[in-house]
Amino acid sequence: MCGECDWVVWLPARRPGQRAHCPRCHHHLTGTARRDAQAPMACAIGALIMLALVFAFPFLGFSTHGVGHVMRFADTAEALLGDHYGVLALVLLATTVAFPGLYLAALVYLCLGAGHQRLPGAIPLARLLRPIEPWMMSDVFIVGVLVSLVKIVSLADIHIRASFIAFCIYSLLLLRTVTLIDWTALWDAIAPAPEPDMTAHAGASGRSQSLVACGACGTPFVAHPRHRCPRCGKRHHVFRVDRIQLTWALLVTAALLYIPANIYPVLSTVTLGNAQPQTIAAGVLHLAESGDWPIAAVIFVASIVVPVSKIVALAWLCIAARGRPAASLARTRAYRITEKIGRWSMIDVFVVAVLATLVQAGTLMSIEPGPGAIAFAGVVILTMIAALTFDTRLLWPERAPGNAS
Ligand SMILES: [Zn+2]
Ligand SMILES: [Zn+2]
Repeated sequence: MCGECDWVVWLPARRPGQRAHCPRCHHHLTGTARRDAQAPMACAIGALIMLALVFAFPFLGFSTHGVGHVMRFADTAEALLGDHYGVLALVLLATTVAFPGLYLAALVYLCLGAGHQRLPGAIPLARLLRPIEPWMMSDVFIVGVLVSLVKIVSLADIHIRASFIAFCIYSLLLLRTVTLIDWTALWDAIAPAPEPDMTAHAGASGRSQSLVACGACGTPFVAHPRHRCPRCGKRHHVFRVDRIQLTWALLVTAALLYIPANIYPVLSTVTLGNAQPQTIAAGVLHLAESGDWPIAAVIFVASIVVPVSKIVALAWLCIAARGRPAASLARTRAYRITEKIGRWSMIDVFVVAVLATLVQAGTLMSIEPGPGAIAFAGVVILTMIAALTFDTRLLWPERAPGNAS
């Protein structure tokens, strides 16, 4: 059953290299079937080793007018905590290290135990993995580091150290691991699928047949209130239009929070005792004036265009979901784009975190985070949760056109 448009599809067994798409909304119903089940595990182990190396070596070096220091990755959290920006430190560590690390370790455990029945804790662990995926942002962090370097390269000498290279490899391996996992096969190895319901027929929505698909393992089953998935035990999602109110609440909060995010400075540069606060818009203008057009464009898109268009697009989808379903495919595509690009708004938050840690040359020059950065991180997180609470199935008609009865 398609998790995005609720269409019931009959799937034949896949041969290696094949993957299934939904005929109605083109959503990937399965991953690519693989001959070699060990590939994601090998990738995950490689990524974990690289992650360990990240903490073993210095990350970046910084020097200006003979004053300099070497920054380790863990220093980012320490510096932010020291500046009383513990929330930012938490966001940074969770999204770049803690969530991906947990994800990779859990995956290795599941792959090692795959095939052995009753691996302790396998089902709850497997249920945890998919929801973590959007919150793994090591790739966004790398872009944040590069943007930070461009911002200060004219003011100081920057040296890239071993740990940064390790972080880049870790990030690439993490992305590769996520694309290699075949969830259908992994779930089959963890817990066998129950017998399919023979009364269900393909080519109609699940809703019209009282069928729901489990949000975690994808198993279709007959819906009852307070029913749990027969395979993994996850409580099923009923169609509830009032869940849109939750999306609305998150969107309105994000929109309100976007005001202080722009009014208050996201960082301030202290040179010889003079503090120069800088808001998001001022940062973009400053970059553009100094000729760094590409970086100015990146920050402009990530910090202004993406959050605003995401809030507007989700609000439009919430309104559309209440009315009669129309242009379902276009709307679902709009949703997918907003969901995919939202995490890239985090760039500016990471830039602030990196600059505040790296640029520490005592009274000569230092950079401190500003309250705007916390508000902005809040906007990004709230819009991401809002996108996750939105149920795309509401955009699709219950019955196929011409099939109405
Ligand atoms: Zn679909
Ligand atoms: Zn399930």
